[in-house]
Amino acid sequence: MSRQHRFARLSMSASALSTLLLGGCGVSHETEQAFPGKAGEVVTARVALPGLGLQTVTYEKIDGMAVMEGDILLDPREEPARSGQSVGRANTGFRWPGATVPYVIDAALPDSDRVTSAIRHWESKTSLRFKPRTTEADYVRFRPGSGCSSFVGKKGGEQTLDLGGGCSVGSTIHEIGHALGLWHEQSRADRDNHITINWDNIQSEAQGNFKTYTQKGADGMDLGPYDYGSIMHYGAYAFSSNGQPTIVRKDGGGDFGQRDGLSDGDTRGAESLYSPRARFSNGVAVNRCLDVVNGNSAQGTRTQIWECNGSASQEWFLSVHGELRSTLAPNRCLDVTDGKTTWGTRVQIWECNGSASQRWTISNGEVRSAQGSNLCLDVAGAGSAPGTAVQIWDCNRSAAQKWTRF
Ligand SMILES: [Zn+2]
Repeated sequence: MSRQHRFARLSMSASALSTLLLGGCGVSHETEQAFPGKAGEVVTARVALPGLGLQTVTYEKIDGMAVMEGDILLDPREEPARSGQSVGRANTGFRWPGATVPYVIDAALPDSDRVTSAIRHWESKTSLRFKPRTTEADYVRFRPGSGCSSFVGKKGGEQTLDLGGGCSVGSTIHEIGHALGLWHEQSRADRDNHITINWDNIQSEAQGNFKTYTQKGADGMDLGPYDYGSIMHYGAYAFSSNGQPTIVRKDGGGDFGQRDGLSDGDTRGAESLYSPRARFSNGVAVNRCLDVVNGNSAQGTRTQIWECNGSASQEWFLSVHGELRSTLAPNRCLDVTDGKTTWGTRVQIWECNGSASQRWTISNGEVRSAQGSNLCLDVAGAGSAPGTAVQIWDCNRSAAQKWTRF
């Protein structure tokens, strides 16, 4: 206990020092904080978190706000003392309907280009869309703040996303990630397999920032493999009390915690929250799946049927906009070549662009193209050999046009 108190007395100066250090470390070690240099009352409580359910978490009360992990704001309704009940929101209630986030940029926000650049980045890599708010009840307000902070997921009503002067475009991309429903990468259930937390180097009041949410076994946050390159990962020196690293990679690898842009893992993680994943087997034979040739993610790569093998080249995100986005790489959509409507036109992957040649309706086992009234995804010549081309053809309810989602 005395050790705890000694740390507590040191904490303010250590905190201020580390803020300076972090500021000097450049973007690669950046760690967003809602109230840089400020420490609050540390509270540990059972709290219902968006997408994770009831979790035991530690947060700080600073300036009347509940702050977790430095830059995550908790909705007061998520605090059990206020809500008086132990029921979390529905698992999907935190997501933005239509994968679209209405937003307002506060007129007082300096350098609002940070926001438009960050939004453009998100839209160029994912199916998530942002639109200036008109009358929507639920929306994000980008506003000036002392640091960088956001709520996680849709909170309901207006929710603020604070951007202080030190918040870069990368930090804004990071905070938008929170607003979409992403947690910090290093808080995943499996993080101890990948990183070592140097508890002795962490500011005492910031120790709670380094816990996982998963004491109770919730694993909803582990989207894909562990991603050192995630823009949602803390830097190595996050909340350091002594200038020594607080996080070290277990694989001996180098840098992590970048703030340049979304990693492929980030885009998959965000897409997973909003677009169900599916594979499609065809009726020409058992074990024939819609497949991108050679798992090549380049634009113009053709599709075929191939033995179902569980690879990324056979997995698709079904976006709410009607796209089938390949999980091979960000922003690759199932596409009718050159937007043609002639029977036999090959189907490829191409950069997602929202055009009719990339929109599909899946019903009754058919995958219909938005390009025509009666154009279906079809296996050429009803062949069943692996490598047989996939094309569009007049819808005819044949086995070659019957696709089973799984
Ligand atoms: Zn954060």
